[in-house]
Amino acid sequence: MNALDIRSLKKTYTNGTNALKGVNLQVAKGDFFGLLGPNGAGKSTIIGIISSLIRKTSGSVKIFNTDIDKNFALAKSFIGITPQEINFNQFETVEDIVLNQAGFYGMPKKLARERLDELLGKLRLEDKRKEVSRNLSGGMKRRLMIARALVHKPKLLLLDEPTAGVDIEIRHSIWSFLEELNSLGTTIILTTHNLEEVEILCRNIGIINSGHLIEDTSLRGLLSQLDSESYILDLENEVTDSQIADFPELKAIDKHQVEININKKDKKEKSLNSLFVKLSDKGIAIRSMRNKNNRLEKLFLDLISTS
Ligand code: ADP
Repeated sequence: MNALDIRSLKKTYTNGTNALKGVNLQVAKGDFFGLLGPNGAGKSTIIGIISSLIRKTSGSVKIFNTDIDKNFALAKSFIGITPQEINFNQFETVEDIVLNQAGFYGMPKKLARERLDELLGKLRLEDKRKEVSRNLSGGMKRRLMIARALVHKPKLLLLDEPTAGVDIEIRHSIWSFLEELNSLGTTIILTTHNLEEVEILCRNIGIINSGHLIEDTSLRGLLSQLDSESYILDLENEVTDSQIADFPELKAIDKHQVEININKKDKKEKSLNSLFVKLSDKGIAIRSMRNKNNRLEKLFLDLISTS
């Protein structure tokens, strides 16, 4: 079954902007799906229409087989959403924000409290439950948005830039929380500008540009289009430009780090091994090596520039 089934979706705003020009998109139940695209591509318009904050011009949207035009209340009960903008009452406490949301969904008070305890625990907000929300840090506000979106146990979670402005440690804790949630069966659709986030979390990806869906594929499929992989080598000691000049395959990032691009047609281990031997002959020792993050970035930029 599809968690989301969008057909021929169009949106023209009253000022004449054609934000969506006939989008078809299906997201399977249980998927972790990344919706990507440059600013102004139409991502928020799609999320807004799914969550019924924005009225579509034409086309259909079904959530778990329920058409939003036919049974809006049921379709809405399947969805939890965290918008990009922090939009709760800054003077309410953390627990009131979550409990009021439960009230909107008609949840019994006892159940709502149990759910509150569970979510504040998992999202590491327990000690902030009596705090008014404006006193929370940016990362805590993001986690509170997620707690609020999940209080009624939605089957589909829509996250619009969930880790924007969040520090690395909290970002990682949000990622593990979302991974666990997805492994327990919640379908998640994520929009983000952070391609590392996409690579870590998403199984499938849609790329939208100027109101058209230009790519709809698995993360693995997309990455396989890359013909090379980049690695960063951390060096034990400082290297000079002239030392690096002996290795045309290396690009210096700074005095302690170099980057190497390996074509997929070459055998990765063989290329790296022979490089390590040559480096060691020149007295250059490697402390560690890692896959360069944001492998998707170049591919993404190529796709949107050619669409
Ligand atoms: P994204 O989320 O990918 O950045 P949006 O869905 O916000 O893109 O915007 C898609 C297009 O629709 C843009 O050209 C944007 O300027 C326009 N747009 C968004 N909201 C409105 C609105 N309320 N009125 C008019 N145009 C809008």
